Amino acid sequence: MTKAKVYLVGAGPGKADLITVCGINAIAKADCIVCDKLANQALLKYAKADAEIIAVPKRIGKGSFDQDQINQIIIAKALAGKTVTRLKGGDPCIFGRGAEEAKVLVDAGIEFEIVPGITAAIAAAEYSGIMLTDRNYSSQVVFVTGREAPGKEETSIDWDLLAKFRGTIVFYMGMENIELIVSKLINNGMDADTPVAIVSDATYASQIVLQTKLNQLVRQSQQKKIMPPALIIVGQAANCNSSLNWFMNKPMFGRNIVVTRDRKGNTDFAEKIIERAGNPVEFETISIKPMTQSNEFLKAMEKFSSFDWVVFTSVNGVRIFFDFLHDAGKDSRVFGSMKIAAIGKRTANQLSQFGLKADFVPESFTSKDLALGLVKFTDFSGKKVLLLRSELANKELEDVLLTGGADITKTSVYNIAPVVSDAHGLQEKIKTGGVDCITFASPSAVSSFFEQVDVKLVKSHNVVIASVGPVTSARLTEVGINVEIEPSVHTIDGLLDAIESYYK
Ligand code: SAH
Repeated sequence: MTKAKVYLVGAGPGKADLITVCGINAIAKADCIVCDKLANQALLKYAKADAEIIAVPKRIGKGSFDQDQINQIIIAKALAGKTVTRLKGGDPCIFGRGAEEAKVLVDAGIEFEIVPGITAAIAAAEYSGIMLTDRNYSSQVVFVTGREAPGKEETSIDWDLLAKFRGTIVFYMGMENIELIVSKLINNGMDADTPVAIVSDATYASQIVLQTKLNQLVRQSQQKKIMPPALIIVGQAANCNSSLNWFMNKPMFGRNIVVTRDRKGNTDFAEKIIERAGNPVEFETISIKPMTQSNEFLKAMEKFSSFDWVVFTSVNGVRIFFDFLHDAGKDSRVFGSMKIAAIGKRTANQLSQFGLKADFVPESFTSKDLALGLVKFTDFSGKKVLLLRSELANKELEDVLLTGGADITKTSVYNIAPVVSDAHGLQEKIKTGGVDCITFASPSAVSSFFEQVDVKLVKSHNVVIASVGPVTSARLTEVGINVEIEPSVHTIDGLLDAIESYYK
């Protein structure tokens, strides 16, 4: 039997990439992942496809687990010979009961490792410009639980010492007892004017920071309707300058941005939005289906070596073409001395992943620029050109190359099919002001989106429309939508830069 092993892993405070490399490795190794509610579920993308995922929310109510049940699950899975990763929010042993789980493992004789994580206090402070230590005003930090173990008769919190403490105090799990915390501190002698801050949903686009004074904390947190998870930070550190709040000062911070590509495209796009502190709202409009088993494609592949030029018009085209090659037991050598054109930088980058350098990439990334650039770049008369494109490709590229004398074979590598998503849910969000911007990266996404979502509703709710380039914008104009944002570089990164400048 395989030897059991358990990793007690800190997932970090929230934003998925704040986990450690060691933590990701433990997720990737696991046969079974036992996952807390506070751990970012997006991290499960690193898990093996067949890993068993067990969610163990620990709140009160239906479907929740107590610590004994969780311990039993971990032990049962480990004793069955599985590699178990116990994924916990923040650091596993800071108010995380990692210690209890470790003890149970020792008693059961099961090997384990502890992978530290960034604890909420550190992340919340740094993502709001609060410096927990500072040579001038805070030479000490203390982490305190705002909720003691139930049933405990006497408090083990030194309120008298905390009230005199000259450093920074961070209360975890304090929101339910916020009144008690404030009164204990003030009654034990802390100045009622002491600066305090609450940081909720730290590191997410929904992060809220409230800075105030101790005696106003309860009222203001109620006014602002601050909900857990949140930390209460007490001391001079809480009185920081908002210019240090680099995260919430990002132009895209907290903006709800709808992404409307295919599922994989949306996932990639969403990650980039999170990187810029925005909140992606995923709405899948299209799916991309390989057509590499069609007669047309297979015929083109039979005479592949006879072409002088191969033109790729999208990243998807490259990806799917190489999936086909791979399945056929072939690789980049099929290109021989053939010339290769790519519609843009990203398509060229994708090619370089397979060891190929595009001979031609236009300055501006539309099929028209690609075509005009190509005929300027070289003489196409009598040249055999293979266009590998989507079924919906427009005719511009082909027409220009034909005028240049090229002998063209075109074949679809993939086709784009519309996908139905939760339009009702999205429309409700739009109505309640929960959507700031809708992005479009292709004309097919525009068509599929507005077949499902009401044009009038979008127009009447002050939603900003961002389009990747002129072809997509033209389709938007056709359906009656004004485009506010269109980048000069027609890529997703270009689009993100343009959205960011818009919000600056
Ligand atoms: N082991 C975790 C803490 C678990 S206790 C860690 O090291 O971070 C749960 C408490 O952590 C919450 O009640 C809240 O006070 C704090 N917390 C966790 N994630 C948070 C977040 N993203 N923003 C603010 N507080 C958070």
